[in-house]
Amino acid sequence: MTTTPELGIHWGDVTAEITSVLRDYLRINTSNPPGNEQAAAEFLAPILESEGYECEYVEAGPGRVSMRTRLHGAGAARPLMLLNPTDVVPVQEEFWDVDPFAAVEKDGMLWGRGALDMKGMGTLELLVMLLFKRLNLTPNRDIVFLAVADEEAGSAFGMEWLDQNEQGWITEPEFALNEGGMGALNLLGSNRPVFACSPSEKSPLWLKLRAEGQPGHGSTPHGDNAVERLIRALYAIQNWDRAVTIQPHTAEALQRMRDANAWAGSAPSLNRLCQTYPAFAAVTRDTISNTGATSGIKHNVIPADAEATLDCRLLPGESYDDFIKSMRDVIDDEKVDVEVVFGSMGPSSSFETEMVSVIEDVVREQVEGALVIPSTCVGFTDSRVLRRHGVHSYGFVPTLMDASLAAGVHGHNERTSIEGLNTGIQILFEVVRRFTNAQRL
Ligand SMILES: [Zn+2]
Repeated sequence: MTTTPELGIHWGDVTAEITSVLRDYLRINTSNPPGNEQAAAEFLAPILESEGYECEYVEAGPGRVSMRTRLHGAGAARPLMLLNPTDVVPVQEEFWDVDPFAAVEKDGMLWGRGALDMKGMGTLELLVMLLFKRLNLTPNRDIVFLAVADEEAGSAFGMEWLDQNEQGWITEPEFALNEGGMGALNLLGSNRPVFACSPSEKSPLWLKLRAEGQPGHGSTPHGDNAVERLIRALYAIQNWDRAVTIQPHTAEALQRMRDANAWAGSAPSLNRLCQTYPAFAAVTRDTISNTGATSGIKHNVIPADAEATLDCRLLPGESYDDFIKSMRDVIDDEKVDVEVVFGSMGPSSSFETEMVSVIEDVVREQVEGALVIPSTCVGFTDSRVLRRHGVHSYGFVPTLMDASLAAGVHGHNERTSIEGLNTGIQILFEVVRRFTNAQRL
């Protein structure tokens, strides 16, 4: 579909506008730390204001600005929120083929930190707001656009701050669309386009292991060496055989793909999926990544302590306490302490809602042969804060591109497909229009 005749939308023009806005947006460096989301708010707000929107701001710390605007609806229900974090993760520029903040366009792609995570989606949401205004569409409920700070560093200056200080911003919507699932070609080797819609996500649990021992002279091993204790603990954790759990959303996703014959020939086994696709393996168990280890003061001194950092991600609904207790049993050493550095949990949203039905209908109509599956996001997103307050929040970025591009999220050479943005805006606009039963009055 290239035009929506009854509304007079020419999607090619809209996509050109999205590309142009996103190019400018990618050039604003909002690497977190420090974030500097004020620059993003000051970029987005004038675009909205020039088309009749009024923007509100909160500042959670110097430069840590979040911005909100709304399209007033008929008040039939609580609002729909279009949520978009404005910060990005830092880059290691030496690993990029292009300048990550130059917004280079080549081979049908727009390159830059944030192209996927999540300035691309933020720009689609912005265009939905602009199109509604231009077309004089009135939704049955308010549509709230929230460009929020500090998603990438735990949200203490973003959603968690709002939860503490402006809770109405969090509790007001009934539904929200956010990052967490996207449209993909070749997902898990599928020959059909698959749109992941994420009602749930894993819970981060960041742990520090601290081993203690006897200091001493390197010439005289005494059997109570903190570094050696830490290594034994890490080795035991690496070999900890944790159960594979196929949670209901994952089971449902696999079933839908099998029913749709999404694989040529017979469906791959669970084992094969886990071995081939680390992102799939991660939704079937609690994972642990060892992300650092430090100790030592001098080459010939046995140190008194040693530390390691672990990034653990638990399946939805799993208990932190049970996990830590099991880890202590696996380590089996009183002189290795397990300390919680950070943890943040939220419940899951239902996959049986009006929003999910609308998403399924629109995707089916607009992309031939496509299917929608429930997915568990392996990272954590701001949706957890909304879900804590009962907001139905979905990770649904309806751009469509090769699944391998997802490696750019938090990685190198992050880029988005312009054709994918074109598909994305058509789906997102129609989902929002249909869900809010928007009419031209
Ligand atoms: Zn991210």
